Amino acid sequence: MFTDAQDAPLGGPVGGRLGDGAVRTTCPYCGVGCGLLAERDGDNVRVAGDPAHPANRGRLCSKGSALGETTGLEGRLLYPEIGGKRVGWDEVLDTLARRFGETAAAHGPDSVAFYVSGQLLTEDYYVANKLIKGFLGTANIDTNSRLCMASSVAGHRRAFGNDIVPGVYGDLEEADLVVIVGSNLAWAHPILYQRLAAAKAAKPALRVVVVDPRRTATCEIADLHLALDPGTDVALFAGLLAHLEAAGARDRRYVERHTDGIEAALHTAQATVPDAAAAAKLCGVAEGGVAEFYDAFARTERVVTIFSQGVNQSSAGTDKVNAIVNCHLITGRIGRPGMGPFSVTGQPNAMGGREVGALANQLAAHMLFTPEEVDRVARFWRAPGIARRPGLKAVDLFRAVEAGAIKAIWIMATNPAVSLPDAEQVRRALAKCPFVAVSDCVRATDTTGFAHVRLPALAWGEKDGTVTNSERVISRQRAFLPAPGEARADWWIVAEAAKRLGFAPHFAFGGPADIFREHAALSAFENDGSRDFDLSGLAAISDAEYAGLAPVRWPCPSLGTGQERFFADGGYFTPDRRARFVPTPARAPAHPTAPDYPLRLNTGRVRDQWHTMTRTGLVPRLVEHQPATALEIHPADAQRCGVAKGGWARIESRWGAMTAEVRITPDVKPGDVFVPMHWSDQFAGNGAVNRVVNPETDAVSGQPELKHTPVRVLPWVPHWRAVLLTRRRASPDAEWWRTAPRNGYWQTELAARSAPGEGWAEIEALTGAQEPAAEFADAGRGDHRVVRLDASGRLASIVFFHADREPVALDADWLGEHFGAAALSAADCRNLLAGRPQSPRPAKGPIVCSCFAVGSDAILAAIAAGAASASAVGAATRAGTNCGSCRPEINALIGAPRQRSAA
Ligand code: SF4
Repeated sequence: MFTDAQDAPLGGPVGGRLGDGAVRTTCPYCGVGCGLLAERDGDNVRVAGDPAHPANRGRLCSKGSALGETTGLEGRLLYPEIGGKRVGWDEVLDTLARRFGETAAAHGPDSVAFYVSGQLLTEDYYVANKLIKGFLGTANIDTNSRLCMASSVAGHRRAFGNDIVPGVYGDLEEADLVVIVGSNLAWAHPILYQRLAAAKAAKPALRVVVVDPRRTATCEIADLHLALDPGTDVALFAGLLAHLEAAGARDRRYVERHTDGIEAALHTAQATVPDAAAAAKLCGVAEGGVAEFYDAFARTERVVTIFSQGVNQSSAGTDKVNAIVNCHLITGRIGRPGMGPFSVTGQPNAMGGREVGALANQLAAHMLFTPEEVDRVARFWRAPGIARRPGLKAVDLFRAVEAGAIKAIWIMATNPAVSLPDAEQVRRALAKCPFVAVSDCVRATDTTGFAHVRLPALAWGEKDGTVTNSERVISRQRAFLPAPGEARADWWIVAEAAKRLGFAPHFAFGGPADIFREHAALSAFENDGSRDFDLSGLAAISDAEYAGLAPVRWPCPSLGTGQERFFADGGYFTPDRRARFVPTPARAPAHPTAPDYPLRLNTGRVRDQWHTMTRTGLVPRLVEHQPATALEIHPADAQRCGVAKGGWARIESRWGAMTAEVRITPDVKPGDVFVPMHWSDQFAGNGAVNRVVNPETDAVSGQPELKHTPVRVLPWVPHWRAVLLTRRRASPDAEWWRTAPRNGYWQTELAARSAPGEGWAEIEALTGAQEPAAEFADAGRGDHRVVRLDASGRLASIVFFHADREPVALDADWLGEHFGAAALSAADCRNLLAGRPQSPRPAKGPIVCSCFAVGSDAILAAIAAGAASASAVGAATRAGTNCGSCRPEINALIGAPRQRSAA
């Protein structure tokens, strides 16, 4: 449900319309899976939301709207490399096949591994999984989706018998109560959030409850926020199960006809969390809030519980999923409009990875490693040497690499040196591994730095295939840009390697349509209806039909007949077709806090960045919203730890340490701290949070506990700091630094506790190729400023270095504008040393609206002038009138009535 354009802005090019030749494709970021129209316009790429796509109906968020700015070739890996040197495709593929073949022959099939990605298209995923499981004979393939939704997969399998999301996005709009658990939906799945916000605006009776330790932007539409302690969701939902039974909310007919195991689950819940009071105590929230939530859930028929990484990324992740599902099973609220448990995936094609079986514990087409299913897939693939048991899950896989059990690994489209927990362990493993191949579209990442072999892959806009979003809708991602350099499709690279390994007849794919047909045919092979994943209606589509394929939901037993919802009338995928209640005893996170590590570290996303920033980190307007990683800490904890706003903190755990700027906020609870997960060694020094995060995993799903690590926070006080504006990207080696692109230049900030003289030497090494065009030095204060020009008289760099603790007051935008000038005079250069124009310009404040670069100061001025709604602020400033991702922040600045927090 969408309301008018003002309430529901359409994402698209900032000004202008796309032509008739625009290609229909899909966003490569989050699991909402928005449809896009994209076209090339000279050197530019323009995008707009696809009004015909069911996920977004024309809307895009800030990241999707900026996709056209990510298609440049700067930093791309364009040619195959061995040992950092360019080679031809034949040489690199021969080398890769030889090393994998020799390793498997000498040490057995389990000595090789693939680590793949939810960024791959389904066709890429299918071919990689077929090669390693079917023909290399090992299931040592895992995907970074292990970090994303493995607990949901495991929870679905325990309850439903297979991995099904039973509902559709439209259920959020048809519900009367939406419970959002462990998800900052407004930032992580923005279009879904905007659909819900629009529905609530149109139907004020729709109640929203947010369950999250942090007060996030999502709370902007919440009627109630339960700021529970991290990791206590099982207790909250076990208590709800007990309450639903006590309140007479059991749907006896549904439970008796379609489920099994209610007594054991109820017994566990009643024994451990008998009521709201017990839940409140275990969860660290006020009893009144819990009681209100329980009452609302019990008396509302149309309830959707939507959940994401705050549920999944936990050592009790699978139990959390089942604790939620139990509450929907007991009330029979599943599979009907406006009700059901709803897992939203983080990645664009995490669902596609689940379909092809790219998780180490699955086979293909939602089949497992039972003898019967192994036999079935082996016959379909004609692969007698197929793997017959599960492989190693992500964390264990990299442990096996470090231990030497895995000696050759092929990493595709992901950056495990940044994204996996205990990242130092992953780096040690990659450094020790005898053979590391990495397929990527970006040349320099923290992971490609360990590669013996680099394989250039196509990027979004160049590649062609399908992805599946969180509501089981398969959409086409279409190419509209030529392949640059010698980059190739991931499926082609894997198939060529397979041919060289001796499996040519099984990998003779002519293109993605061939692969998709085989994938669909496998889903239908000997499928008598007992397997949920069924694409039989697509198994014989022609190349032309594949090319024009409109979004279609699975299962689709015939073309154009996707099934909407599951389980309203039972029909689960267990042997007796009944759902299973699962007892979920509440337990604490794996590593408790202790006197030396007294704070709980939570990690997550920021609004405008995606994963490890390899694309979004290159778009100035996306970086401006949050240009650096920052520690969020409650004022009381900040005081106790001795850290201050504008300063830095050292964050230490048993696994590692990092340094971050400090943001003091009451939005995190006392005892909790939060750090974003995006920053890598490419954008910050000592800024990668997963160096600190513990590697504990859920015993069932293998998903790491990324949301709970005991840490301590210490003040970090540098002896010098510097700001560099450079035409070219700088690569510092300081104790702390961060860099970000601006319009036509890079802004890099550094700080360290080394002697200022050493610091100045490092800055000179970075920028001192030319003689200064202007210079100011105050040795007594340790203040040193230098402007340099290039050979043609254009601005090359500006340096502000100082040993004071107070930052130099700079107008970086004003300084940066000089990079656009053809040549600077000596007077211009001297003026730049001041850091600010002689007549100060109005401050912008931190960027709120990245589409139109509107800062908080302009928004506050509009509010002071009488703008009382986000729409009125938009009319005055344009903020929030394109993609709408910033509207929660605009509302927060207006001071719209906040939800009540039970904390
Ligand atoms: S909501 Fe997700 S899929 Fe949609 S435009 Fe934003 S990042 Fe892309």
